[in-house]
Amino acid sequence: MIIVKLGGAAITDKTRLSVIKRRAIASIARVLAKHRDYIIVHGAGSFGHIPVKKYNLTGPIKSKRQLIGYSKTKASLLKLEIELVSILSKNQIPAAPVAASTCLMADHGRIVSQNFETVASMLKLGLVPCIGGDLVQDISLGASVVSGDQIAANLAIAFHAHTIIFGTDVDGLFTVNPKLNHKAKLISTLDLAGLKKWAEKAGPANVPDASGGMRGKLTEILPAVMAGIKVVIINLNAPSRLEAAMDGKTVKGTKILDQFSAGSERSAQH
Ligand code: ADP
Repeated sequence: MIIVKLGGAAITDKTRLSVIKRRAIASIARVLAKHRDYIIVHGAGSFGHIPVKKYNLTGPIKSKRQLIGYSKTKASLLKLEIELVSILSKNQIPAAPVAASTCLMADHGRIVSQNFETVASMLKLGLVPCIGGDLVQDISLGASVVSGDQIAANLAIAFHAHTIIFGTDVDGLFTVNPKLNHKAKLISTLDLAGLKKWAEKAGPANVPDASGGMRGKLTEILPAVMAGIKVVIINLNAPSRLEAAMDGKTVKGTKILDQFSAGSERSAQH
């Protein structure tokens, strides 16, 4: 089982409200159509982060304006889901949309309970579940944003996935945000200690993002890596890299080594 996370930055234009990258999604779909036994998780991109910011949905939900904003954000997320599932099915992927808010509860934005029975049943039938970052019910805040990254890690652990592929719009983790500094260098491998360090150091996205950009992603990756799951961060603008990653081949990107493989990679280098 592989969890494929399609980053909001890769499937939408994060700077413009509700702009979907149809061609990029179609290229991704053509690769995924050749594979089986995977779950698609995706970010909300501009369909989520922009209205979440506009209606102040990151704090406790208290006002009528926020409730209307909640509803408008949900409508926007549904639009993205329709587009995404339509492109996937057009490319022969039996994608099944799943609203994260129907299988998760959060507390201050952290998942505290989950029920993936529906997802398991879909997989058994041969469908490809497709789950996006979402506004979910929250014990303390009323509702809160749960990122696709957090959902990807939880699903990977729940379904004993061997790999999570985090696809985004840059080649992986860099020494600094590559969109702001052309001297940024790609970090091709990272062990657990390095991951912890970078989870504190990496920058946010330089666009509206309620879930912390690259820093948020690294933080969410930690529990999956500690569970022994292989994690790679790749650029989805290069579909051949997705193809290689799906086949378990070495690929340009950032590979995160769990403590066991970190040891064997080190001894293999000596
Ligand atoms: P996605 O929406 O695809 O999940 P994010 O927007 O959350 O991805 O995170 C990717 C973005 O993080 C990149 O587009 C980049 O601008 C930003 N970023 C900040 N710091 C770094 C870094 N050190 N390395 C790579 N990307 C970074």
